[in-house]
Amino acid sequence: MSNPYGQRWRKARREHLRAHPLCIFCQQQGHTTPATVVDHITPHRGDMKLFWNRRNWQSLCETCHNAAKQALERSGHFRGSDLAGQPLDPGHHWNAA
Ligand SMILES: [Zn+2]
Repeated sequence: MSNPYGQRWRKARREHLRAHPLCIFCQQQGHTTPATVVDHITPHRGDMKLFWNRRNWQSLCETCHNAAKQALERSGHFRGSDLAGQPLDPGHHWNAA
């Protein structure tokens, strides 16, 4: 298996999806789509602090996840973060926990 994060991530991911069951991108557009992916807002690139920082997680559906990754690759910019890689505003409503 290529997933280096194993059991702990699978469990954390499942819990995140239970707490945040809807795709946030779809929600922003007024659609209600069940999320199936927990995405890292700022790509962690192996940084475990960033990887496990729940403020850096967002629930997405498969479609939005793929679109976000493609947009990221095209633009070279990270959605929701500045150039220093700071995560989104922690006061954002779906970060409230
Ligand atoms: Zn979506």
